[in-house]
This record gives sequence, C-alpha cells and structure tokens, in this order.
Amino acid sequence: MKYKRILLKLSGESLMGDKKNNSIDPMRLNQYVQEIKKVAEKGVQIAIVIGGGNIFRGAEAEAMGVERVQGDYMGMLATLINGMALQSALENIGVYTRLMSGISINQVCEPFIRRRAIRHLEKGRVVIFGAGIGNPYFTTDSTASLRAIEIEAEVVLKGTRVDGVYTADPEKDPNAQRYANISFKEAYNKGLNIMDMTAFTLCQENNLPIIVFDMNVVGNLQKIVQGDDVGTLISTETRAANA
Ligand code: UDP
Repeated sequence: MKYKRILLKLSGESLMGDKKNNSIDPMRLNQYVQEIKKVAEKGVQIAIVIGGGNIFRGAEAEAMGVERVQGDYMGMLATLINGMALQSALENIGVYTRLMSGISINQVCEPFIRRRAIRHLEKGRVVIFGAGIGNPYFTTDSTASLRAIEIEAEVVLKGTRVDGVYTADPEKDPNAQRYANISFKEAYNKGLNIMDMTAFTLCQENNLPIIVFDMNVVGNLQKIVQGDDVGTLISTETRAANA
C-alpha cells in the first residue's frame, strides 16, 4: 500500500446519487461503504470528512431569510446527519467507526479531540469527522485539509463525480484534457477550481498532496491507495507527464 493514513473527502451531494431533494441514496451509500471497507481491510487508516450539500448549504440560507451564520450551523448539522448515516452503514458491514464532531453534540457522537482521533485510527477504526471545523464561513473542503494536517494524513482524497482535474470543463469542452499531475502553483495560476482557496492554501502551505478522483467508479479508492495512477494528483513538485 502506498498510503498508510488517508483522509477521504466526500461531498454531501455525492451521497444523493440520482435522487433529488435532500436525501441519501441507499445504493450509493452502500457502494461507498463497501469501497471504504476494502481499503480498511488492507490496514489503511481512514479518516473521512463528509459534506452536507445534499441537505443544506449555509450560502443558501439568506435567500430564505435565515442569517448566514445560522445557516452555516444548519449546514454543519447536515454534515452530521450524513456522518451518522455513513457510520451506521459502515458498522452494518462490520467496519468499526467513530464519529467525531466539530461542535458539541454529546448525545450523538464524540467531540473532535486530535489525539483521540489519532488513537482511533491506530486502533483501526474509521474516523468520520462531522460538523466541519465547527466554525461558520468554512466548508467541508477546508475541514478536510485542516483535519488531514492535524492527524498527519499523507494525502487528501477528494472523491467527486469526475475522474480528475481538466484543462477546461469536460462537460462543455470536448477538447478538455485531464491532468495526471499538476503542481499547486500551476493549478493556482491556471485558476483551476480544485477546492476553495482556504482548503487549497492549507494543503499547499503544509505540503499535503490532494488527489481528485471519481469515487463512483468501483475499485478506484483501492487503486489510489495502492499507488495506481488514478485521478489527478496535486502536489508541490511539478511532474512533466500529463494525461
Ligand atoms: N459548514 C460550516 N463550517 C464548516 C463546514 C461546513 O459552516 O467548517 C457549513 C457551510 O454552510 C456549508 C455546509 O456546512 O455550506 C455544508 O458543507 P459543504 O457545503 O462543504 O458540503 P459539500 O459541498 O461537501 O456537500
């Protein structure tokens, strides 16, 4: 295995699958947990940050007369709902987990305590970080970067619906090409939208590579962890080869 400790970022929307309106697709949830189990069984330590966009996003709040900060807390609670679903689905297939929250919600899960999170990982438990960082005006991408640095993960794996970072939007431009590797600097200079700037900068400044990949392709997660060339690697050093 190339990586011993990873941080997997899953968006809330990815859990929605083909369903619409604030829901979790059981098929998709089941698919994801099977993928995670395969990697956990190889002895890889896995932390997961899950988004909440399928249920609520703080930025949508103002349009409904809800103050931004309140909306952000609603978004954080949404990530916990997804985290609870993920936890149960993992435990149903025999994977030990802990859900840790960025805000106090003690009846539901543990608070995030860095040393404790690391201990869980060392014991082979999949750790799910819910409620983001616990502060408004942040995203779960920023949470993924921050938590990955805190727990000393070797890489952030950003599971999406596309198989990497492209020169242009592949849905609009038929000539768009996928990067196999790109440096942080080049990605920034080209204005490529990989993560929000806070998340991106945290990774860059702390020399933490990101791999953007298609989580919906069965086997992809395992391939990445083995070191196969899947998705796009964003890292400090520039490598010449591009797909
Ligand atoms: N959020 C927040 N602070 C955090 C993480 C999340 O305020 O540290 C809120 C924010 O309103 C965000 C929402 O939670 O819109 C859901 O998270 P996100 O949009 O990142 O989810 P994703 O797009 O990954 O589904």
